[in-house]
Amino acid sequence: MTPAQEIARRRTFAIISHPDAGKTTLTEKFLLYGNAIHLAGAVKDRKNQRATASDWMELEKQRGISISSTVLQFDFAGCAVNLLDTPGHKDFSEDTYRVLTAVDAALMVIDAAKGVETQTRKLFEVCRRRGVPIFTFMNKCDRPTRNPLDLLDELESVLGLQSSPVIWPLGNGPSFKGVFDRRTRQVHLFERVPGGKFQAPVNVTSLDDPAVRDKLDDDTYRDVKEQLEMLDGAGHPFDLHAVQHGKQTPVYFGSAVNNFGIELLLNGFLQDSVPPAPRKSVSITVPGAPAPTTERVVPVDDPKFSGFIFKIQANMDPKHRDRIAFCRVCSGKFERDMVVTHQRTGRQVRLSSSHKLFGQERETVDEAWPGDVIGLVGHDSFGIGDTLTTDRAIVYDEIPRFPSEVFTYITNPNSGDAKKYRAGLEQLLQEGVVQSFSAKNAPPGATLLAAVGPLQFEVVQWRLQSEYNAESRLTPTPWTVLRWLEIPDRLKDAKGNFDFTRLIVATGVSFGADKFDHPVVLFPNEWSIRYFTEKNPELKLHELPLEQ
Ligand code: GDP
Repeated sequence: MTPAQEIARRRTFAIISHPDAGKTTLTEKFLLYGNAIHLAGAVKDRKNQRATASDWMELEKQRGISISSTVLQFDFAGCAVNLLDTPGHKDFSEDTYRVLTAVDAALMVIDAAKGVETQTRKLFEVCRRRGVPIFTFMNKCDRPTRNPLDLLDELESVLGLQSSPVIWPLGNGPSFKGVFDRRTRQVHLFERVPGGKFQAPVNVTSLDDPAVRDKLDDDTYRDVKEQLEMLDGAGHPFDLHAVQHGKQTPVYFGSAVNNFGIELLLNGFLQDSVPPAPRKSVSITVPGAPAPTTERVVPVDDPKFSGFIFKIQANMDPKHRDRIAFCRVCSGKFERDMVVTHQRTGRQVRLSSSHKLFGQERETVDEAWPGDVIGLVGHDSFGIGDTLTTDRAIVYDEIPRFPSEVFTYITNPNSGDAKKYRAGLEQLLQEGVVQSFSAKNAPPGATLLAAVGPLQFEVVQWRLQSEYNAESRLTPTPWTVLRWLEIPDRLKDAKGNFDFTRLIVATGVSFGADKFDHPVVLFPNEWSIRYFTEKNPELKLHELPLEQ
């Protein structure tokens, strides 16, 4: 296969959904159709399978949520599919957002009884901002659902997303008997399969076939006829260009747990979705490089290798105490043992320990193409957002940053275990699980942690305990908002220092610094921010750091 063919057959996507909509079930079914399930062990009952496939941490099992993302790769219909699993819980949104920077398309799973839910809306926004193509799967049609036309209206009214149904449901709940493919004008009748363990048998026929009329009750048949006529007359025609630019979503209906409509979804999605898209390299001064880089779009078939790290995960496998940096390949070909430049430090590194991951199992990767994700082991200097490349002129800046909303102090209650505690905390901070700040007047030994959601703190404590055997204690803080402070040079003394005592602030406001020593202000409430801006008009506050 030529490099161009290898790239053209890549499909890299994530599933976005509200918890419980059926993301895990659908992932498992995709693996089943991609014949990849054997890699995760035989198809077991759901509970065990869940633990072996995409979920791996004890905490996830305990809470039934998925915390860390895993990359699942399988072949289907000639495509090399990379499915990036995104954490589902709302508190892990930061991590999810980062994963979404590494995909070329998203599959939005919606519970057809519930419609668009909050988490779906947030994740959708991230995809929309990036112009990522979005495909929609209306799941759980075997249960009573909302009217399918209303569901389409909701995509339009709530998300502002034009929809074009490709696959239409025939009935819902107990009367759900199959789907109609609006492209081929054919009906796919399904048999219910116990537990959905096998690929569902399918019977293809036309809507006027007496067998279809026999299967559907009169009301359902009439409704479906009417709905389809309406869609043909007044619906948006399918527009591939609009789909590939995230302006229109093709809609599929089905039932993941029963394998209804999964193959049609997978086929349609892979056919209409886009191969790896080129990424933008930014203008930046790279340590040790002869000149600053210039802004340009790097073509995927650029002969030079480049990629960026979107996720770091330590201790994925309790048997190997290690740290994996996940790199999305953007251009060129990755080959094991190649030497690349780590652009943030300007250092040359050899990528010898590269893996493809499948749940807990890992396989050595010898080569990878744009769109693929490789897990790199044993490079402690790699951080989230870093570019790896054989071309010094390429630097990616793909990772979005989000303002923290919750804060806590963390301390080590067990002074005998200082080493373990420090090492663990440092590692978790490097992974980007939470952010840390130094705060003025912090209790002795305390580190200020900041996160988007409180469950992130729980993960820190749990992982310190289970992976480093280190206890920790959280102490609440009075702050709810953190802002970076921009101090004009004219207000600083000759040494570049600023006298914080000259500021007029409300009670409860405090100061600190981020890990690059950039000053931050901690506010107890929105009112105290307004007061600060009013009283100190020469200083500017920023939601996110200006530079790093
Ligand atoms: P996630 O939180 O989005 O990963 O959702 P899961 O895949 O864990 O599914 C949540 C629940 O919905 C589970 O109990 C599934 O068995 C169930 N479920 C998933 N798909 C379907 C479906 O098509 N029909 C029905 N009735 N239940 C489903």
